[in-house]
Amino acid sequence: MATPTVTKDQIVLRMSHTAAPVARIAPDTTIRLETADCFSDQVQGPGDIDRGLDWDTVNPATGPVYVEGAAPGDVLVVRIERLEVADHGVMCTGGGWGVLGDRIAELTWRFLSIADGRAGWEGGPRFPIRPMIGVIGVAPAGDDVPCGTPGPHGGNMDTRLIGEGATLYLPVQVAGGLLAAGDLHAAMGDGEVAVTGVEVAGAVTLHVGLRRDLELRDPLLENDELVTTIASAASLDAAAASATAAMAELLHARLGLELADAVMLMSAVGEVRVSQMVDPLRTVRFEMPKSAYEPTYGPLL
Ligand code: CA
Ligand code: ZN
Repeated sequence: MATPTVTKDQIVLRMSHTAAPVARIAPDTTIRLETADCFSDQVQGPGDIDRGLDWDTVNPATGPVYVEGAAPGDVLVVRIERLEVADHGVMCTGGGWGVLGDRIAELTWRFLSIADGRAGWEGGPRFPIRPMIGVIGVAPAGDDVPCGTPGPHGGNMDTRLIGEGATLYLPVQVAGGLLAAGDLHAAMGDGEVAVTGVEVAGAVTLHVGLRRDLELRDPLLENDELVTTIASAASLDAAAASATAAMAELLHARLGLELADAVMLMSAVGEVRVSQMVDPLRTVRFEMPKSAYEPTYGPLL
């Protein structure tokens, strides 16, 4: 059977428990979401900048998808089976945006071509792409959250590990979960210092499962090498403390490690990494290599 596809005219700009589902799937099925870029595909070339942008439609996410049987307290297990990205992208920085936004007076744009696994703007370097999802999450139980903001529901986590082959664990807050995704990046480094990655349209193919034996406050990600917590807060310090605490609690709950032993193991082999430092909340992750605990304890998740 062909994988069901949701087209990119079916979007939300806020993660909301009141959003009407555009698709319904059973757990353990695969769905493909076509996605506009974070500027709603408005910027295809310099002429589009001159015409002016509608900033009210930035950060669209395709969805939401209702997962049958998903209830608050469950966890959506979302395996990213395939990421497709367009053959062109866009970046911008300055004009108050990004880490150096106060030193680059004008909002400055570049248009990138993408071919043969590399991206670059005219006259600039061509660097390897590393496609990833910027925005992916479920609906929050409380107030709506704009798709540009990250949080316990996921959202604009801008975490470069959210790529093909990775599995994301999202704590369900409302019936059906209401999964949505968008804001693909052909490439983005930790920090996202310009305020953009290589922003691209594309498509994501997701296998969506359901777990009821995990208690999560914030998203987790797993790939072949590691498990990482992902936490967002008003400051990098607060996000780092939250990501670190979440990993310690996970090691304690799932492997039975005393909290002090968990923290020492984390201090010996774990990594605090900045996912992004430019969104309305900052996102930090705590990466734990599987090689540090799996031989002794087996899988964490
Ligand atoms: Ca983003
Ligand atoms: Zn983006």
